[in-house]
Amino acid sequence: MKTKSLTLRLCRTILLLTILLPLSSFALNGRMRFITTQDGRYLRLGDLAEQWQLHSENMPNDRIVLADRNYRFELGAGSRGARLNGTLLYLHYPPICAPEGKWFLHQLDMERSLKPYFDTDSLYPDPVRRIILDPGHGGADPGARGETLLEKEINLAVARRVAARLRAAGFEVVMTRDDDSEPTLAERSALVRTTNSDLFVSIHQNAATNRNAIGIETFCVTPPELSNPADSRNNRQNDCPGHRFERNSLRLATGIQSQLLRHTGATDRGVKRARFRVLRMSDCPAVLVECGFISNHEEEQKLGREDYQEQLAEGIASGILQYCRELEEL
Ligand SMILES: [Zn+2]
Repeated sequence: MKTKSLTLRLCRTILLLTILLPLSSFALNGRMRFITTQDGRYLRLGDLAEQWQLHSENMPNDRIVLADRNYRFELGAGSRGARLNGTLLYLHYPPICAPEGKWFLHQLDMERSLKPYFDTDSLYPDPVRRIILDPGHGGADPGARGETLLEKEINLAVARRVAARLRAAGFEVVMTRDDDSEPTLAERSALVRTTNSDLFVSIHQNAATNRNAIGIETFCVTPPELSNPADSRNNRQNDCPGHRFERNSLRLATGIQSQLLRHTGATDRGVKRARFRVLRMSDCPAVLVECGFISNHEEEQKLGREDYQEQLAEGIASGILQYCRELEEL
């Protein structure tokens, strides 16, 4: 009796394995056709659209749209600049449009640029209760200098206005500094763990030698796969707490960037990636916002105005709220 049931169980296991094994290798391949270039593997966009059940549509001027109910990605052949619901988002590699209209997207962009929107199982769904706001620089470090303004002062003024809005919306807010002190970068990101916080938003103003440069840009951490084999320092930076939340950070960055543009009407410089220490070392989703160029005369004038600081704060707070709402809807 015992032998029989063992045999039966064995048969059943073998049967299950024969059914499941081909399925799993299928899923691993994801039925994706691909080409390989010197930059690595590019996946066929049509197969990707089918797997994620997206609407895809060729547009004029070598552009293509991929969309579901909530998100619309517009990609351009040979261009890293994509549009997510209209907001500029930089891909890691330019998509390829081969003859006969066959499109290919780099595997890293499938995993790290599109997946956070179209395959939301890849996100951490943890609800947000406590938010860290990090006004950049402070104390002896003024940050960028304009004709009349210091970056550290604008950062703090905007952060305080964001804090008031978030507290009114029921969140707890921790400030890395609420005066002219100068916490180190390590102290700022360490606050995530010591205060058990759920988001980290660093607030800065930009500067450039080109005095015509204007606009808003938002950064999240560079994905760990983008290591540089020639740079061992970079590779050491690839095993960081911030990388675990990289997809959530991208969602937070696009939410904040799009709401900032909506509330200020400023120039869109896009959502970008960087290995800034506060982004790598924060043990939660983290972004760094550059609200405007203190080195441009007109933008400096605006940044010094209280009503414009209010608009910036409204944009940042609305972006955070949008991110939280989207997480709840997952
Ligand atoms: Zn700064």
